[in-house]
Amino acid sequence: MGQVDNFADVLVLGLGAMGSAATYQLARQGASVIAIDQFSPPHKMGSTHGDTRITRQAIGEGEVYTPLALRSYKLWDEIEKETGTDLLTMTGGLIIADASGVSTAHGNADFMGNTLRSAEKYGIGHERLDVRGIQTRYPQFKLRGHEMGYLEYKAGFLRPERCVEAQLDLAKRHGAKIYTGEKVLEFVQERDGVSVKTDRCDYKCKKLIISAGPWVSDFIGERYKGLFKVYRQVLYWFDVEDSYESFVAEKFPVFIWDFGTEGGGGIYGFPAIDGRQGGLKVAHEDYLETTAPDQTRRDVSPAETDEMFERFVEPRLVGVKRECVKVVICLYTVTPDSGFVIDTHPDYKDVIIASPCSGHGFKHSAAIGEALAQLATRGNTDIDISAFAFGVRDRREI
Ligand SMILES: Cc1cc2nc3c(=O)[nH]c(=O)nc-3n(C[C@H](O)[C@H](O)[C@H](O)COP(=O)(O)OP(=O)(O)OC[C@H]3O[C@@H](n4cnc5c(N)ncnc54)[C@H](O)[C@@H]3O)c2cc1C
Repeated sequence: MGQVDNFADVLVLGLGAMGSAATYQLARQGASVIAIDQFSPPHKMGSTHGDTRITRQAIGEGEVYTPLALRSYKLWDEIEKETGTDLLTMTGGLIIADASGVSTAHGNADFMGNTLRSAEKYGIGHERLDVRGIQTRYPQFKLRGHEMGYLEYKAGFLRPERCVEAQLDLAKRHGAKIYTGEKVLEFVQERDGVSVKTDRCDYKCKKLIISAGPWVSDFIGERYKGLFKVYRQVLYWFDVEDSYESFVAEKFPVFIWDFGTEGGGGIYGFPAIDGRQGGLKVAHEDYLETTAPDQTRRDVSPAETDEMFERFVEPRLVGVKRECVKVVICLYTVTPDSGFVIDTHPDYKDVIIASPCSGHGFKHSAAIGEALAQLATRGNTDIDISAFAFGVRDRREI
């Protein structure tokens, strides 16, 4: 590598949800931080875009996640106050699943059960609803007779682009050096610290945080490449009928609907937040084909949109029209059990990997940023993140 001309305590590679949060937390606690992104975040090429992300507190993916969600609620509130930006809207969150059986989401075979246990354990305000209870409150859903609902009062949605912007803005105010449009090419673990080479210059840091989202495999080393698979996801905004007001945030919750015994997976969705023209955002998770971030097909065919409407929207929601007003491609980075990896790299003692995606990372990102900052500066974290250790994911078949 050439001349090292920039030094920081911590260098953050990638400024999506995780990197922007880590950069802010590092700068806030007084560490010198250089933060680099190949694009100009927030952007539409990774995993942190598309207007909204569901947030909830009782976490069906596993109880271990709830402390991160609860801490994130506190941090979002602080960031909102510091920046005067509206980041979190509480609409209530409805999870619908088969009443008789097990419900699956994000690799977890008992999503509803975990959610209920977590809500009880942490005292999270919620109620259970039978089909009639859901129908009375939310006639927008076309329910089957055998379903049940979990309604969490403080669930809602976050605005991912605004969250990134707000945290980068605060990070700058606290002295972080943020470089965009700069691509990291490689790093070298030195005896102490790390050298980082970009397409512009070389840097040296005591710790490197790699929060590269779907590009994580570029930096992980051969042995771990198979641990992270990237899947193309499509977000759809469908037009709504004149009764669109029944979908505004005051009347319609964020929702996750597992179709259970009927098969076909499920859908999740949000209220209409941009008036009638904005449409209703709804999506279905797709794990059919792996991709790579720089080779992903970014357009959406009419056949895909038709299928989404006919299979997943029309049979389940009242008052939504076939016309699709917007589509967006976004990328999931998925581990074999959909768990996060937040840990020091097994082979590089000064390199921390943050890959908390698998489709459910955003809600935790403020607290993950804080944990990353703590890990980088003092070697441990307030919230127990041992469940996200490399070894835990690596023991699974890859
Ligand atoms: C369709 C979809 C729906 C989702 N829904 C939810 C939800 O409802 N609730 C929820 O909690 N979570 C949800 N998630 C998950 C959540 O959005 C992700 O966990 C989170 O956004 C991941 O952020 P990240 O920072 O890891 O990745 P990214 O946002 O992709 O950021 C990685 C960054 O690294 C940069 N980078 C990569 N390589 C380099 C390089 N060589 N040099 C410089 N920069 C580089 C990229 O440019 C990028 O900006 C969803 C994800 C998707 C895709």
